[in-house]
Amino acid sequence: MKQTDTALLRELTEILRAGGIEDAGLEAQWICGDMPDAERARETAKRRAAHEPLQYLLGTWEFYGLPMQVGPGVLIPRADTETLVDAVLERQQHLPQTPAAADLCTGSGCIALALKSRLPQLTVTGIDKSETALGYARRNAGANRLDVQWCCDDVLAPANLPGMLDLIVCNPPYLTADDMANLQQEVAFEPEEALFGGADGLDFYRSITALWKDVLRQGGLLAYEIGCTQGAAVEAILRQNGFRDTEIIRDLSGLERVVLGYRS
Ligand code: GLN
Repeated sequence: MKQTDTALLRELTEILRAGGIEDAGLEAQWICGDMPDAERARETAKRRAAHEPLQYLLGTWEFYGLPMQVGPGVLIPRADTETLVDAVLERQQHLPQTPAAADLCTGSGCIALALKSRLPQLTVTGIDKSETALGYARRNAGANRLDVQWCCDDVLAPANLPGMLDLIVCNPPYLTADDMANLQQEVAFEPEEALFGGADGLDFYRSITALWKDVLRQGGLLAYEIGCTQGAAVEAILRQNGFRDTEIIRDLSGLERVVLGYRS
């Protein structure tokens, strides 16, 4: 590394550390590597020191090995959500040869795109009520050359329900009122409508399960991401709605992260 780069790296690290950024050294390297222009790198470090999410500042973040464009107005893809993609891929023997799927609350489109990248024969529609989010999803599909359909609709009161599906995946907003009152500073930059799941965080699970089971064929798979304390409650919702062989699956940190089941 050149002398000037070392000095800049040190300066950025200091800016980040002063803002209380935990991995100041590492993040300074990412910012330096991403932005050859020193003034821009400095400005970015200052915004990061005010706890704007690093992912928004860099503009891309990787999910399931695919680069995803992200920015204000869309939820940042989390590594935890890869657990949902893994869980579905591990159960692909339950899907027909050319499965039809929907990704509800698709946001950046990361789940739909990750699934499509591994199951090319999949027909998948990503649905979201936010046009801003769908703008990112469309760009992510284009950049990754993946053929996914996108639809702007409210999954809680859909204007259009698709034909019969073999698979529904969904990472809905699931934070509780309490969670929302105690958001990490970075998360507060993300859209509230992508985070808040009602007082107990379960509104979307209740409504989506009751509403969308009618477009899931018998034996079709419904797979949700959940908050780590919501496993039993979401599993109960699935069972009350006639789903069988329900499972709670943990993420790499050992926390409950996915609930799934099959339509009876
Ligand atoms: N996993 C996100 C968080 O903990 C929440 C996203 C969601 O509600 N689906 O901030």
